[in-house]
Amino acid sequence: MLSHAATAIPIPATHGSDQLGAVATLTATAHTAGQVAAVLLIVTIVVWFYLLTCLIWPFGKCRRCKGVGKFKSPFGRAYRHCGKCQGSGLRVRLGRHVINHIRAVRGAGQNSTSKGGK
Ligand SMILES: [Zn+2]
Repeated sequence: MLSHAATAIPIPATHGSDQLGAVATLTATAHTAGQVAAVLLIVTIVVWFYLLTCLIWPFGKCRRCKGVGKFKSPFGRAYRHCGKCQGSGLRVRLGRHVINHIRAVRGAGQNSTSKGGK
């Protein structure tokens, strides 16, 4: 009888600790979810700000010719245009490519809906 009672005692104790552990993991996941949401919010703001700057200033310096647009010959005054930027010295920024892509996708969607309407 005594041994049976002794074995019976630890069972609710372990059960209780399991519940506590479950609560602890729940609060831990809630905490990390909040952190993830905050990080996502910051990243979203940074990306939107970058896209906004790409909307206002779409070009950067060409990386190959450093914005000059041409390469001078070591002899005389001869030069050739930069192949990468076709002599413009400009480079379309990555964010501008993204904006152009979004606009193209939206335009394609509008075209398809207008065709469907007719
Ligand atoms: Zn160039």
